[in-house]
Amino acid sequence: MERKNVKTRKQSWAEPYKIKMVELLKMTTPAQRQKAIREAGYNTFLLKSEDVYIDLLTDSGTSAMSDRQWAGLMLGDEAYAGSRNFYHLEDAVKRRYGYKYVIPTHQGRGAENLISKSLIKPGHIIPGNMYFTTTRLHQELAGGTFADVIIDDAHDPESDFPFKGNIDLNKVKALIAKHGAAKIPYICVATTVNMAGGQPISLTNLKALRKLTLPYGIKIILDMTRVAENAWFIKEREKGYANKNIAEIVLEICSLTDGATMSAKKDCLVNIGGFLALNDESIYQEASNLVVVYEGLHTYGGLAGRDMEAMAIGIEESLQDEHMKARIGQVVYLGEQLLRCDVPIVQPIGGHGIFIDALRFLPQLKQDQFPAQALAAELYLDSGVRSMERGIVSAGRDSKTGKNNYPALELVRLTIPRRVYTQAHMDVIAESVERVYRNRSKIKGLNMVFEPKYLRFFQARFTKSV
Ligand SMILES: *Cc1c(COP(=O)(O)O)cnc(C)c1O
Repeated sequence: MERKNVKTRKQSWAEPYKIKMVELLKMTTPAQRQKAIREAGYNTFLLKSEDVYIDLLTDSGTSAMSDRQWAGLMLGDEAYAGSRNFYHLEDAVKRRYGYKYVIPTHQGRGAENLISKSLIKPGHIIPGNMYFTTTRLHQELAGGTFADVIIDDAHDPESDFPFKGNIDLNKVKALIAKHGAAKIPYICVATTVNMAGGQPISLTNLKALRKLTLPYGIKIILDMTRVAENAWFIKEREKGYANKNIAEIVLEICSLTDGATMSAKKDCLVNIGGFLALNDESIYQEASNLVVVYEGLHTYGGLAGRDMEAMAIGIEESLQDEHMKARIGQVVYLGEQLLRCDVPIVQPIGGHGIFIDALRFLPQLKQDQFPAQALAAELYLDSGVRSMERGIVSAGRDSKTGKNNYPALELVRLTIPRRVYTQAHMDVIAESVERVYRNRSKIKGLNMVFEPKYLRFFQARFTKSV
């Protein structure tokens, strides 16, 4: 049968699962929210989860596990050494990501600590496609200095370049010329760059980077936290990949690198866990010696056997094309609702959330009045939706001068947990953001009254400016 114009018909996506168990949500009154956010020092990280209606603080560890993953918990082999679940996890990492060695860690930053301590010496430079908070801190604690080599477009929330996670090879060349390759142990490449708004890197760019750095002996360590989401964007946007599936693209990305850190709390659909994966035996030996100091034996790395089992199953589920289609489809659905109301968001719409441009949303505020922090608090006050700041508070201070970093991006992140909320929740969120946007001229800035030394965004406290 011949069918014409099939392409022009609307193609809806739907969740490739049905709901078996529900968790009831708590509604709050405006007066309750006023009290809660004041007590939390206007920092959404300090709110009690019970006071939150729709929780978009993070997509980290907040995913809904499948019935198979829950069943996997019951198969936990809680032996101290050589748990069967470890071998299941090791098999999944080898088969799906192609690395030779794997060391489980309690979460992503555990793996970042191990790789930083194994490869970085004082005075080293570690280039990366935009910083990530915990990654950069571990590099600095090991004596290294992070250098941003992401393309300039990534710092422009209005640029619609399809691969804003790409690395500017000229910036890498300039670093090699300035410091010498011996000072650069590895380049840290993130897939779907979190701080840029969930923006992907292309395979063309990663291949070119490999070609540039291999002759110098500079390694590539992947921050593969959201590698499957990145693969989806490659399939959608990069020439030659439309007919490949997510699993094939993920394997190709990993094959261009020497190792990877994974926060399994994101892509791998578990509530806790992570790993360090490596191809080089001597680095593996070094890291598996360190893991016993910081995490636990190299066959559990701070995790229970059952956690490793859930992770192994989650890895398989995360690589299904249907899963990723619905995952990104939901994020895009929310983003398009906001664009229709002219709310300024980072474009193209990223993989794991919507990033509101607080500088354009609140033009009356200067960056040291913490516009994104203030906006996240307002959104909570309006509807009980919890988001998070990704701007000047998250950027912290320069480790040498002690001065505030002023990032070009001042964003509020609406992060969508995987398989947790429905399209109707997305509608409620969009309506709340639109209401706050209509009343934006009344929003005031904040003063920081308590500032922790490390990763201040987690625990800083604020008061409202008058
Ligand atoms: C979450 C995250 C990490 C750190 O992982 P944790 O599991 O939170 O310790 C590292 N890199 C990126 C890009 C992340 O999003």
